[in-house]
Amino acid sequence: MATKTIQQILPPAPPHMVGDGFRVHNFFPSGYNMDQQRMSPFFLLDYNAKIDFPGRDTPRGVGVHPHRGFETVTISYHGKVAHHDSYGNSGTIGEGDVQWMTAGSGVLHKEYHDAEYSRTGGPFQMVQLWVNLPAKDKMTQPKYQAITAAQMGRYQLPGDGGIVEVVAGTFNGVKGPAFTFSPIELYNIRIKKGASATLDLPANFNTGILVVEGAVKANETGVAPADNFILFNNDGENISLYAEEDSVLLVLSGEPINEPIAAYGPFLMNTHEELQQAYDDLRKGKFGVLED
Ligand code: MN
Repeated sequence: MATKTIQQILPPAPPHMVGDGFRVHNFFPSGYNMDQQRMSPFFLLDYNAKIDFPGRDTPRGVGVHPHRGFETVTISYHGKVAHHDSYGNSGTIGEGDVQWMTAGSGVLHKEYHDAEYSRTGGPFQMVQLWVNLPAKDKMTQPKYQAITAAQMGRYQLPGDGGIVEVVAGTFNGVKGPAFTFSPIELYNIRIKKGASATLDLPANFNTGILVVEGAVKANETGVAPADNFILFNNDGENISLYAEEDSVLLVLSGEPINEPIAAYGPFLMNTHEELQQAYDDLRKGKFGVLED
């Protein structure tokens, strides 16, 4: 099998605020003007690199906003976030947990720091991924998968080298709990300094690795430090990883959806007409009601 070679190691682009609670570096599509299809089925990667929020009584966050046509996947590394939506759903995720929200036909929601975390403040580190839905599933009923750290598939690396937490897909026979609408592999690799791991992913899958902590050498060539994103070419299956330090790596890999993309603001559809429909439906109250 051939090596999936590195296209580029991307340092974090300048951060911007999402509401007042998320200070994010965008890696795609806008951060590096990447083609909207380049990482399909992943459309967006926002990374809140580790920062300290001072404690306060009123939780920081982002107010009521809609989504339609895709999924938001929120991964917590430090700190806790809560959400509420227009269907009465709510939940909180903490360190090591993942919230997989299928917006589908549409929700209004708000995302903010958990009240308890907000009061104490402290380290905060999160990822939000936008996962596109195939055209046939864009208007699916909204749903949630709250996936706690304890529910992840767990693969022990040889020689006490660390652990692979499988969120979605399968790593060395260990399955992740997330239901996905298209083939997706999503793992957190918690690897110790000096340990190695090997990934075997289909050549056509769009693939990247976010270095959440530590530093990793990929394919015996490029060393990527913390907060960098390794973008891989679609030229092979194998990636070898060597941990230069104790590291946490978020691996994302998926089969491209290969359908037209019409994206605007919080909507991710296939055509301009569907975007207009989304704004019409929002105005007519079809996304429900949620108080700020
Ligand atoms: Mn949102």
